[in-house]
Amino acid sequence: MPQKIAAGNWKMNGTLEAVPEAGAIAAASGAVETILCPPATLIGPLTLAAQGTDLRIGGQSCHPAASGAHTGDISAAMLADAGATYCITGHSERRADHGESDDDVRAQTEAAWAAGLRAILCIGETLEQREAGETLDVLTAQLEGSLPGGATEENTIIAYEPVWAIGTGKVASPDQVAEVHDALRDHVGPEMSLLYGGSVKAGNAAELFALTNVDGALVGGASLKAADFVPIVEALA
Ligand code: 13P
Repeated sequence: MPQKIAAGNWKMNGTLEAVPEAGAIAAASGAVETILCPPATLIGPLTLAAQGTDLRIGGQSCHPAASGAHTGDISAAMLADAGATYCITGHSERRADHGESDDDVRAQTEAAWAAGLRAILCIGETLEQREAGETLDVLTAQLEGSLPGGATEENTIIAYEPVWAIGTGKVASPDQVAEVHDALRDHVGPEMSLLYGGSVKAGNAAELFALTNVDGALVGGASLKAADFVPIVEALA
């Protein structure tokens, strides 16, 4: 059985004032693997807040190199040093804002593994691609291009995040999610955790988690407050 996982991506949100939210989420974690990926500035503080609990902390991206002349970037080893045990790779916002290609994502995922981090590798189609009937082809190409050889359920989680559902309030329908996740399951085998992401809220989580090949969620906006995220974690338990 794939591991059940509730992961929160805080994106570029949160200052030290947000640490108590993580503390409250940490207190509710345990029944399922619960992860928060805050901005890099909060990895240390959230790691401290999560000490002695089952909450795990992750980065949102990493540079493929371990160190060097890369102003503004963070290596996977640095994330691990600050307390992270996970790292998101290939998020559509990184692909769009920073021009990250499948090759870049594969290199980042390998760097995450080399630093001992478990990668949360994201793939997703745009609305244009969905409307053109290209969804499964696009996702297969992204997976084949960005998932390194050697991926196992121990070092990698796959997150399906349709770009048109991220931050829009337009959650993919259960039928749409099931179609994609069933295809992904055929691709990655029986044990790798498959997360859905895109406008997941307490009100729609249970319906998504009831799908056979949905093993959890990667949550953006609704992971910032414990009052919103804890019910999602509980819906998965
Ligand atoms: P929202 O839950 O805010 O739609 O964001 C999803 C996401 O991009 C998580 O990585």
